[in-house]
Amino acid sequence: FCMCPGGFVVPSQTEEDSIVVNGMSASGRNSNWSNAAFVVETRPEDIPEEFLKKAEEEGCSALAGLFFRHHIEKETKRAGNGQKAPAQMMRDFLDGKDSEKLVPSSYTPGLVPSRLDLWLPEQISGRLSQGFLDFEKNMKGFISREALMIASETRTSTPVRILRDERTYESPFLSGLFPCGEGSGYAGGIVSSAMDGEKACRAAAERR
Ligand SMILES: Cc1cc2nc3c(=O)[nH]c(=O)nc-3n(C[C@H](O)[C@H](O)[C@H](O)COP(=O)(O)OP(=O)(O)OC[C@H]3O[C@@H](n4cnc5c(N)ncnc54)[C@H](O)[C@@H]3O)c2cc1C
Repeated sequence: FCMCPGGFVVPSQTEEDSIVVNGMSASGRNSNWSNAAFVVETRPEDIPEEFLKKAEEEGCSALAGLFFRHHIEKETKRAGNGQKAPAQMMRDFLDGKDSEKLVPSSYTPGLVPSRLDLWLPEQISGRLSQGFLDFEKNMKGFISREALMIASETRTSTPVRILRDERTYESPFLSGLFPCGEGSGYAGGIVSSAMDGEKACRAAAERR
C-alpha cells in the first residue's frame, strides 16, 4: 500500500498518548527516500478478547476494533520516546534480533531502536514476516539489509463501518444519509475514497 517515492514518513497521531506514522510526498518527489506502507488485514476474529470485552462493557461493541487500534498506537508510543518512533531493520525483524544501528530516515522527530517483532500483536508481526518472505520470492532483493521498518501506520482505513444499502448507498437507519469514503469504512486511500464518493453522489442524485 502507498509507495511514496522521494517522500517522507510523517507523524500523524491525533492523541497525546499515541504514535501514528503516515507517508507523503511533496510534488517534487525529491527526498532521498522511498517509503512504503505495509497493510496487514485485521479481521473481526483477529481482535483480541480483551478489546471485545472492553467495548461490550462500554456499551459499544461495534468499537472493539477502534480500541484495539488505539492499543497498538499506545504501545507504539511506549516503545518510542516522545515523538521519536520505534523502528527496526527489516532483516533484524525477520531474524528476531535487536537492531544495533538504524539507517538514516526521512522521519524528522527521530527513531528509537525497538523489537517490533516482539511487541506488535503476533497476528500482525507474523503476517508481516510471511508477506516479506513472499515478496522476496517474487521480487529478489526485496528483503534488504538497508530496509528500515517504522511503527505504526494504523490509519489506513477505519475499523468501524457505517452500514448502508449496497445498491442505493443509503443508510438503512437514517433516510437521506449516504455514508461514503474512508471514515465510513468503505475505502482506504485517495483513489478508492474518491471513487466511492462519486458513486455515493450518483446514488444520492438518483434518489431525488
Ligand atoms: C499524512 C497522510 C498521507 C497519506 N498518504 C496517502 C497516499 O500516499 N496515498 C493514498 O492513497 N492515501 C493516502 N492517505 C489517505 C488519504 O488521505 C485518505 O484515504 C483520503 O483522504 C480519504 O478521503 P475521504 O474523502 O474519505 O476523507 P477526507 O479526505 O478526510 O475528507 C473528509 C472531509 O470532511 C470534512 N469534515 C469532517 N467533519 C466534517 C463536518 N462535521 N462537517 C463538514 N465537513 C467535515 C473534513 O474537513 C474533510 O475535508 C494519507 C493520509 C494522511 C493523513
